[in-house]
Amino acid sequence: MPFDNGFAELPPAFYTRRMPTPLPAPYFVAASARAAQLVGLDAADLAIDDFVAVFTGNEVPSRAQPLAAVYSGHQFGHWAGQLGDGRAILLGDIAGPQGRMELQLKGAGMTPYSRMGDGRAVLRSSIREFLCSEAMAALGVPTTRALVVTGSNKGVIRETMETAAVVTRMAPSFVRFGSFEHWRYRDKPEELRILADYVIKTFYPDLSGAPNPYLALLEEVTRRTGILIAHWQAVGFMHGVMNTDNMSILGITLDYGPFGFMESFDVDHICNHTDQGGRYSYANQVPVGHWNCYALANALLPLIDDQEAAQAALDVYIDAYGTKFDELLHAKLGLTTTHEGDRALADAMFQLMQDNKVDFTLFFRRLGDLRLDVAESEREAADAPLRDLFLDRPAFDAWTAQYRARLRQEGSVDAARRVAMHAVNPKYILRNYLAQVAIEKAQNGDYSEVARLLSVLERPFDDQPEHEAYAALPPDWAAHLEVSCSS
Ligand code: AMP
Ligand code: MG
Ligand code: MG
Repeated sequence: MPFDNGFAELPPAFYTRRMPTPLPAPYFVAASARAAQLVGLDAADLAIDDFVAVFTGNEVPSRAQPLAAVYSGHQFGHWAGQLGDGRAILLGDIAGPQGRMELQLKGAGMTPYSRMGDGRAVLRSSIREFLCSEAMAALGVPTTRALVVTGSNKGVIRETMETAAVVTRMAPSFVRFGSFEHWRYRDKPEELRILADYVIKTFYPDLSGAPNPYLALLEEVTRRTGILIAHWQAVGFMHGVMNTDNMSILGITLDYGPFGFMESFDVDHICNHTDQGGRYSYANQVPVGHWNCYALANALLPLIDDQEAAQAALDVYIDAYGTKFDELLHAKLGLTTTHEGDRALADAMFQLMQDNKVDFTLFFRRLGDLRLDVAESEREAADAPLRDLFLDRPAFDAWTAQYRARLRQEGSVDAARRVAMHAVNPKYILRNYLAQVAIEKAQNGDYSEVARLLSVLERPFDDQPEHEAYAALPPDWAAHLEVSCSS
C-alpha cells in the first residue's frame, strides 16, 4: 500500500512509534465502498485475508510507520493532563482523488498513552463508529470516515465480556484541540509553534500569508467548529463526549463513542449515560463548542501574542454557528426567503416538538409532505401523518396555520418544496435500536445486517420503499438502551 507518513515527519516528541499488537484469527466484519474509494481501494478486496491482516494490525505494510500521537485535553470541563492515542495507531497517509487521508487503526493494542486502558475496542462500539461515520458523511456532516471493521474472538472485558474489533478510521488529520493544549500546558512554545506551522502548512496553506497566521488559524478553526455544531443541531446528532481531545483541528466530527440521534425531541436530552450533569446535552453542545474554542485560543495565545485579537476571534463562533444553523433551519422548513418572524416561528415549532415529545426525524420528514394546495375540508386528513405525531392537536393546527401563512407569503409551491425539503430532511438516521439489531447479529457471527444498514444509511434522503421499516420509530424494548463512555 502506497503509504506516506506526513505526521511522522514531526519531531519524535509528538508521538511514539509503536507497532499494532496482533489479534488471533481476525475476520472481516464490514467495509465502506465510499470510504475505500477515497483512498483508491476496492471495498470488495478488503475482505481478503491479506487486507484483513493489515486492518487488524497483524501485518504492517512496508511503507507504513505506525505511531501513537500524544495530546492532552479538558475532559468534562476539567484539565485532564496527558492523554494521547491510547488504542489508536496511525499507519500513515495515502493520496486519494480528494486529497491525502491518514489511516488509523482504532483498537490495535496498547501504547504508551493507554493509561489504565487495554488498548482494545469491542465489536459493538466499532460497528457503531463505523456506521455513524459513514451515515454522517452521507448526511453531509463534516466527519472522519470509517473504511473497514475487522474482528477477533479474543475476549475484551467491559461491563460484560465482549470480543475485540478494530475500526480503520480515515481523516486528513487527527490533530485535536488537545494536541495544542498539550504543549501550552507543558510550557513548550517551540513545540507549539512546530505543531501550528505543520497544521497551517499541511491543512490551511492559504493562511500562511496572513498578517498573523496563528490568529488566522484560530479564526478558521473556530469558524469551522461553529459550522460543525450547526450541522449537528440540524440533524439532531449528539456527540456525547465533547472533550477538547475529541475536537478536530479540521472542524470535523471526531471520535464516535456514546453518541446518539435525537428521537423524542427534548432540548435537554443527554445521550451519554456517564454524563450525569448533562454537560454535553443537545442544547449544551452549542455553548460547549464555543468553550472548546476558548480552550484552543488559550493554547494558541503564546503564538498569537495578542489577547484582544484572540478574544475577538472567538466571536467568529457565534456568527458562524448562527448563520449556518439559520441557513440549515430555513432549508429544513422549506423556506427560500428570510423574514422577520422566522425566528419566532421556529421557536414555537421547537416548543411544540418539545411539549409533544415528537420524533425529530419523522417530524421534519413529514413536514415536507404538508400541502398548501388542499381544500379546507380535506386538510385534516391530508395532515394526518404529521398531525398524528402530536398529542396536542389544537396546538399543532395553530402552528401549522402560521407556517402555511409563512409559506404562502413567499409563494411556495407544494411539489417543489417537497423535493427540496426531502433533500435536506433525512428519512433514515442511525437510531440506537437499528445499530443494536445489527450489533447483536454481528455478535452471533452474522454481519449481513451491518452491511444492509450501511447501504440504507448511505442514501438517507431517498425513499427506499423496500426499507420502510428502517424509518420506523424505536420499538418499546429500545427505551432501555443505554450508551456510556466505556467501549
Ligand atoms: P475518549 O473518551 O474515547 O475520547 O478517550 C479518552 C482517552 O482514553 C483517549 O486518550 C483514549 O485513547 C483513551 N482510551 C479510551 N479507551 C481506551 C482503551 N480501551 N485503552 C486505552 N486507552 C483508551
Ligand atoms: Mg477520544
Ligand atoms: Mg472514544
